[in-house]
Amino acid sequence: MLESYSMVERDGLLLYPEEIKERFLATGPLPFRDGTRASPEEIWEFMTDEGPRRFPYMFTSNPNSPQRLPYYVDLIGSIKLYYMIISRRFRVEKMRKLGKPLVLVQGGQPLEPYYAADALPLRPGDMTELACYYVAEGLDIRNKDWKKIDIREEGSRTVSMEACHQITTHAAIRNNVVPVDLVAPYTRVRCSDATFLVESHRDSSRKVDCFLVDYPTNYAPDKTWAVEYVAENIRQLIARIDAISGKTTTADDFRRQIGAYNRVRRLARETIEVWRAAPVPPASSVLVYRILALGKDCDGDPVAAEHVLTQLRDEVRERTAVPLKGGELAERPARIFKCGSCIAINFHALDRAGGALVSADDWWSDISTPDVEEEGDIFANYARTTLSAPYDLPTEDRAAWIVDQVRMSRAEGLIFGYQWGCNFQSAVARMVCDIVQKETDIPATTLSLDELGRGESTEQTQNRIAAFVEMLSYAA
Ligand code: SF4
Repeated sequence: MLESYSMVERDGLLLYPEEIKERFLATGPLPFRDGTRASPEEIWEFMTDEGPRRFPYMFTSNPNSPQRLPYYVDLIGSIKLYYMIISRRFRVEKMRKLGKPLVLVQGGQPLEPYYAADALPLRPGDMTELACYYVAEGLDIRNKDWKKIDIREEGSRTVSMEACHQITTHAAIRNNVVPVDLVAPYTRVRCSDATFLVESHRDSSRKVDCFLVDYPTNYAPDKTWAVEYVAENIRQLIARIDAISGKTTTADDFRRQIGAYNRVRRLARETIEVWRAAPVPPASSVLVYRILALGKDCDGDPVAAEHVLTQLRDEVRERTAVPLKGGELAERPARIFKCGSCIAINFHALDRAGGALVSADDWWSDISTPDVEEEGDIFANYARTTLSAPYDLPTEDRAAWIVDQVRMSRAEGLIFGYQWGCNFQSAVARMVCDIVQKETDIPATTLSLDELGRGESTEQTQNRIAAFVEMLSYAA
């Protein structure tokens, strides 16, 4: 599909235009990890009727919503991508009934161990979305936000006012809004709050099983003890999940999952490499972000992720070969590299201001690392690869890697965003910006946000993004 089709705006919602239906139906069924499939007819019906009725906040046409669909369909594969995200609740519920444990993950780790043990891993943002499915069905974006703020304020009151707003998820677990079986994040250095938020469950009346996957900082390749230590932590994590499900996960189960994940990462890598090498970005910025998330986390299903990424990669190749730019983008957008954890700056506002996201450090860090070696001790191989992810190296090493990525993306500006309460990222943001600016001569700015999980970004944030892009455009 080479044209960009405009979405139809009706009653405050964005709806897919009928003219793309036939092309979409020709893309075939979407396979899932449990062996089932969703037919394209079923997906189309959900995305054009049931979905907008039940989850209007996902289909909102509100221009300030970072969560909304793009105004143009540039990539037809994006319909299945959004279907995976929006209909995830139903698969989570179905698989829980089959005894698969729901696990909260945090810390930016890859998810192979969780999928290998047949668990349902959700990050805080995804878990909060699951909570919203239970408490905000049928609501518009603003009323959904109020529901979310109610949960968050309860967490701030009982745990800490100073925690970052991923506390919403932990409060939703404490209050039984989401039926989580295990809280099991990594202690990767990027996240200042994961460890104490896990500890905070000790004094909760709703007793939830907790396990921290310990992760040494400042990894150097000659630290063999670190590889052995992380490998042992992963074995324990899998055993902990097995104790809940009653399943026995073998090293070969883990190996098979790593093989599947290697394929997913490869597809995401190929897609982003073609995207950033193109003369003009082929689609809306938000899809770079979504593709990175899919390549990193599989949106709950590695089998479906492989199918969707194959389609997206092929479409991106087609469009960039012409080349065609995304329908929502300016004629000559300013190319932006984004840094920071748990940051989805309003990418629609970025596009509107004349910018375009070309890559990011978080998520890309794990996608761009070499494949996990599938032969030999699979636990040690996995530990070695995850320990070498550039995002979690000492800050100067992380910055040196970002400099390379900025050059490869031909980025013209860098935005390092950090959320209120995120102590590690806020502490290193300026240092990374200074190093990148010195080494590449491109402008780099920090962006302090208080928008974790919010359905509408603030005018202040959008103005700062617009001012930065405007400055880049003058320079060009
Ligand atoms: S915002 Fe920062 S502290 Fe909060 S979960 Fe994300 S990385 Fe951790």
